[in-house]
Formats: sequence, C-alpha cells, structure tokens
Amino acid sequence: MTKNGQNIYMIGISGMGMCPLAIYLAQSGCNVTGMDDNMQPGVADILKRNKVKIDCSKQIPEACDCIIYSSAIDLTSKIFVHAKERGIPFIRRGDYLAQIANNKKLIAVVGSHGKTTTTAMLVHALNASKFNFSFFLGALFCNPKIFPARHSPSDWIVAEVDESDGSIDSFCPEITLVINFDWDHPSHYTSVEDLEKTFYNLSTRTRRLVLIPENCPYLQKLVRNGLPCDFRTYGLDGDYGGTFHFNSQGNTKLSTYGLLPRIECDIPNKGLFNAHNGLAALSVVHFLLNNLIEEPFEGFSGVKRRQELLYESQNFMVMMDYAHHPAEIEALLNYVCSRSNRPCVIVFQPHRYSRTQAYYKDFVQVLNKADRVILLPVYAASEPWLEFGTSQMIADNFDGPSGKLKLIDYERQQLFKTLPSSGAQETMNLLFVGAGDIELLALEYKKYLGWADWWQSFLNKIDVGTKVAENEPLASKTTMRLGGSARFYIEPVSLDDLIRAVKGAYTVECPIFILGRGSNLIVPDEGFEGLVIRLNHSHWKEIRDLGGGRIWVGAGARLKEICGYACKSGLAGFEFLEGIPGSLGGSLRMNAGAMGGWLFDVIESIKCITLDGHIKEFFKEDLNLGYRFCKNLENSFAIGAILKSSEIQHQEVIRQKLNLFATKRKSTQPREPSAGCVFKNPEGDYAGRLIEASGLKGFSVGAAEVSSIHCNFIINKGGATSNDVVELIRTIQDRVHKTSGVFLEPEVLFLGKNWDKG
Ligand SMILES: Cc1cc2nc3c(=O)[nH]c(=O)nc-3n(C[C@H](O)[C@H](O)[C@H](O)COP(=O)(O)OP(=O)(O)OC[C@H]3O[C@@H](n4cnc5c(N)ncnc54)[C@H](O)[C@@H]3O)c2cc1C
Repeated sequence: MTKNGQNIYMIGISGMGMCPLAIYLAQSGCNVTGMDDNMQPGVADILKRNKVKIDCSKQIPEACDCIIYSSAIDLTSKIFVHAKERGIPFIRRGDYLAQIANNKKLIAVVGSHGKTTTTAMLVHALNASKFNFSFFLGALFCNPKIFPARHSPSDWIVAEVDESDGSIDSFCPEITLVINFDWDHPSHYTSVEDLEKTFYNLSTRTRRLVLIPENCPYLQKLVRNGLPCDFRTYGLDGDYGGTFHFNSQGNTKLSTYGLLPRIECDIPNKGLFNAHNGLAALSVVHFLLNNLIEEPFEGFSGVKRRQELLYESQNFMVMMDYAHHPAEIEALLNYVCSRSNRPCVIVFQPHRYSRTQAYYKDFVQVLNKADRVILLPVYAASEPWLEFGTSQMIADNFDGPSGKLKLIDYERQQLFKTLPSSGAQETMNLLFVGAGDIELLALEYKKYLGWADWWQSFLNKIDVGTKVAENEPLASKTTMRLGGSARFYIEPVSLDDLIRAVKGAYTVECPIFILGRGSNLIVPDEGFEGLVIRLNHSHWKEIRDLGGGRIWVGAGARLKEICGYACKSGLAGFEFLEGIPGSLGGSLRMNAGAMGGWLFDVIESIKCITLDGHIKEFFKEDLNLGYRFCKNLENSFAIGAILKSSEIQHQEVIRQKLNLFATKRKSTQPREPSAGCVFKNPEGDYAGRLIEASGLKGFSVGAAEVSSIHCNFIINKGGATSNDVVELIRTIQDRVHKTSGVFLEPEVLFLGKNWDKG
C-alpha cells in the first residue's frame, strides 16, 4: 500500500473526496501533487498547509508512481493516454481509499443522507474521548484549523463510505454504521433493489458489528430476513437507546439509555435527523470504548455546507445546506419551519440530471412546503444532459400557487435581484440548498448582505457634506452617457471620509471603483455591484502653487482647469492636455496623452490611497508606466499629484498653443457623446485608420456608431446601451483582424468587467 516517499499524482484534487485523501497521503509521507480545473481557493490553502503540491499544468510530474483520479474525471482524457504510455498505474479514489481502509480496522459510516455530519460528529466524539485513529471526512470542518483527514499509525480508521460510484463494493469494514437508507444515485443503481443488495453485501463483509437505526423500514426488512452478521440497533427503542428534547431555540438534548450509560448531552447540530446522527455516533463510541464522556460533542465546529449559518439578524436567517435528495430537503425544511414561523424561501440547485429525472415529482412535492422557491438550473456534475432531467421538469410540474416558484439562470445578478438586499428589515428564513456550485452564490450573497450592513454603519459616521447614495445612476457622470447604477455611491468631502469608505469596503470585500469624469469608460447596463467613489467635491480640486514651476493638483481637478491655471500663471508644458475631458486622477491612471506628450512627462510625484486605506506617495521613477497605463494605480487611487512645468512663458504664447490644439481637436473629433478613442493604437499604426480601411466607417449596432469623423470613436446617437457598444467593439475587432491581421486592444475601460470575459 502507501509507502513513505511514494510519488502520487491526483487528478481532480479539489473535490471533497480527493482533498482529504491527499492530506492523508501527504501526512503518511507520500509526495503528493494534484491538479484540478476548478481549484477552490479554500481547498488549495488546506492542501498547501499539508505540503500537497498544486500543479494545474495537466502534465504528469516526472516522478510519479501512481495516479489517483476522482470519479468525476473523464477517463478518455489525454492525461490517461500519457499515463498508459509511461506505464503509470491509475486508480479511482474510492478504490484507493478501500485499499488503505482494508489494511486497517475501518469504521465505515454509510447511508443515504447525513454521512458527512455523522462522520464529523463521530470523529469529534472519539477525539474528545482521547481515542487514537485516522480519518477521512467528505467535507471541510467549519473550523479551518481542523483538517478533513488525519493519518495516524493506529490500526483504526474512520471514513464515510460513499455508495454513489459503486466503490463501496471494495470495502470490508470492522464496524459499519448505517444511518439510513433511501434510493439515490439512479444513474448507478437502476432500482432500489440494486442499492439494497449493495448495503446487504457490505454487511456480509463487515467483520465485527453493523449498527442500524431501529426505525428504518428497509433495515427492519433486512433484519427480518436475517442479517448475516452481528448487528445492534440504535434509536428510541434501539439497543443503544436515546430520546431527544428540543428547546425553543432549536437546540437538542439527548438522553441515553439501553446499552449506553445514562447521560444527558447537547447535540450541536439542529433538527431531528441530526439528533439521530448524534446517537448513531455515540453508539459507535461506546461500542469501541465501553465508555461515554459527559459532553462528547462540546466544541464541535460543524461542517461546511451542512446547516451552515451564513447570516443572522433579528428576523432574517440565511443558511446553506448540502441537501440534494427530496428526503434531505424535507428534513431541512421541517427543521427550519419548526424553528420559526417566518416565511421560508428556498433557492435550490438540483444536482445531476439523472436524479432530477428520477425524483422530479418528489422535488415538486417537497419544494411546495417552502413559501417561495427559486429554482436554478441543474448542476450536471459531469453527467450528460437529459431532456426529462432538467429544472424545467420541476417547474413544469410544480402545482403550487402561481408565482410561488421561479426558475432563473445561474447568474449572480439575476438571483440577487430576487433576494433581499439587506438583512436589517427582512423577516425570512432563506435557504441555499444543493450539492453543486450553489455554494459560490451563497457565499457571494453572504458578502452582499455584509456590504449592506457595512454601508448602514458607514452612513452613521460620515462628515456633513459628503454625498452618499444607493443605486446612483452613472450614465450622466460619463461622457458616453449610458449604463446602469452603482449600488453604493459616495462623493467624500474629506480625506477622513475617503479613508473610512475605502477601509470599510475593503474589510467587507466590497469592490471599489473610483470614477473620474467618466470620459474613458463604458458602464455596463446592469450597473456596478459595489462602491463607486468620485472625488467631485471642491476639496479634491485644489490647484496650489508650490513655487519653482511646481503645482499641487487634487485628483478631482479637470485637465482643462490645470491648463487654465497654468496659462494664467505662465507655466508652460501642459498645453498638450487641452481638450482631454478627464480629471487628473483618471488621466494619471490612463497616462493620458496627446500631441506627442503624455501626462507623466509633467508629473513629479503622486499621492495615493491604497486599497486597504493607507496613504502612500510614489515618485515618478518608482512607477510602472506605459502607453495608456500606470500599473500602480490599478491597485491604489490617486488623491493628488505634484506637476512640474517645463518652462516659464508668457501667458499669450501659452494661450495661442492651447487655442491651436483646441481647434485641431474640434475639426478631427466628433461632438456626440463618446468615450474618446476606443482602441489603443497598435505599434506603428493607427486604430482609426485600420477601422476605416476595414469598411466600418459609420457602421452601427443599435444606437452605437463608428464615427464618420474619426473611426476610433464610437458615438452614442441617443439611447445606446452598453450591449450595443460591446457588440460593436467585438465586430470591429473581428473585422480589423480579418482585413489587416491586427488585433485591436480596447483603450476604454469596462466598469467592473474585463474585456476578455465581456
Ligand atoms: C472627446 C474625448 C476626447 C479624448 N481625448 C483623449 C486624448 O486625446 N488622449 C487621451 O489619452 N485620452 C483621451 N480621451 C479619454 C479620456 O478623456 C482620458 O483617458 C482621461 O484621462 C480619463 O479621465 P477620467 O477622469 O474621465 O477617467 P475615468 O474615465 O473616470 O476613469 C478612467 C480610469 O481611471 C480610473 N481613475 C479615475 N480616477 C482615479 C483616481 N483618482 N485614481 C486612480 N484611478 C482613477 C478609473 O477607475 C478608471 O479605471 C478622450 C475622451 C473623450 C470623450
């Protein structure tokens, strides 16, 4: 089996079966490297802390003795061809786990629902009883300090054994703890009898004891027919007896009897099903140790995605749960509804087409128990699409009141629009339910609520004069005059308020965008889910003479004002900025330029606020600058700068130069709303020339049009949308690429988005 120093490569390492196995192997002295197309940051962190190397290059490492792969991985992929060529054996995760477990004394936790929570409770109670053992858990503990697996030299090992992919058939446990039985995984077990046989066969391979719940009809049937092994029951009338008492906060006390010594202990997880899970875990503990401590679950942190409380205010609770079978959803709803009579809203992402096809009627029935249902598309989990296994099937058969169920796309913005934007005033229990990637939406929503709370407390602290707004329209604050609103908007009156806003938003991970004059910007139609800061108060527009041809300019000042001030003061060298309609801050970020010069030609130093709210000064020589960028300002915001004139000249000379540049602009640029040059000029050429040569002069999408005066300008003829502009930009890029082989890179920015991703 596993040998110290063995080199193991794991494919799909981010999954909740693979990650614990990787940790176990690394702790046992193997060199583990893993890859995953969808590496979750939290998992990556835990793996690294266990010295597991992550290498997502899809290259099998030089030194590799064995490949372990998740059952979600496609065996026809190239990597397995390479493995075969190199003669490297590869094995499914479940089968590898069975090999490890069969060399030890395995306590297998099996059943259709609640394996992970029960295993976690068992691990906790055994730890608390000072028992030495290895374990594997199929999820992360809520406490990030506890890893989901442990290697120990002890003979004993605790693992949840998954029946979904059939690898359960390879296990020979010492003790099997069955927590319940229900038909699931219809893609693997085509009938309930198939699954029954699997559980039956597992008990025949169990060496010492099978523990079963006394109230499970299927398991009772097995007992009546004669179980071919030693078994005991647990439950109200079980050999290991227990009764449960629930208080009004939903907390549970367990009183034990029968083969168990009489104790009264707290069950940390909520709901009747978890009370049963707790009793099941304690039955194993007592069978092994012949002893129970007073509070075996004290300090239990819980398991992620199992009744995980994401948010709680006086009348509003948000919970995430892994339930994905109708029975699990029913148990969850029963618990939540019994806990309070607030309306219950469920956001449900069905898991696998095969399960949805098999149980859509049960889903309809159980979802109808909630007060409102938001249904997301099925999470396929690498299954092929099935016509009768989609969420539409549930929606079409839903027989609750009309409007109660809404089927929406898996799309953050669409979902959040249907949910409360703040927890403060709401009365509701909101559940994010499913085993797919709904977790990501739930965690984002948690952040989203955190922003609303932060915003409310921020409003209580700001100085008089600071302008604040929610859902502030941005179109009128840009020269393109289109796009949606900012969720939070502030025009600070002081540095203190700016720091407060930046620090606060940073703490709750609310995205911040600093807006200048909006003259190089496309605002998406759907707006910006974050904080927009605009240095529009006179505080940020100061222009002050520092002597010696140097001036201090606040980041909110317009380039036009700088030119005017410089002209009056006889300071030459700024004239090329005439007619660029930006603020100093935005122009620093863009390193704006014209007539052969760019802004940083006249900059001595800039003063910034960092993303976490600290003030920093950069000198020109420390900056990473280039054509239309200043890298340092991608991660900090300018609050002002010192500008230096090239020479002192007579006002009139400067004015003539300004007039000349202004006239030139007027004749070469359109007057309609625009965002200036859309594309950067490619090396040695002009984007405008290439666009004109491609035949797109005057071409339009909706109300967005390629200007006939200057083809590198897109104008808004009135009522254009950001979608029009994006489509036009893509069309230009395609056409120019086809006609000239040049790929034009946008110069304009797309607020909150990346042009690559659209
Ligand atoms: C008619 C027209 C003509 C133009 N001509 C030219 C030209 O000749 N040369 C040229 O270079 N550009 C030109 N532009 C484009 C544009 O005016 C410049 O890029 C300008 O510098 C942008 O400044 P802004 O304040 O409008 O920035 P915005 O468009 O508001 O923002 C641009 C970027 O700067 C960031 N930003 C804003 N304020 C700050 C701050 N305080 N600190 C850090 N980052 C900040 C924003 O977050 C954003 O990333 C033209 C635009 C138009 C509409």
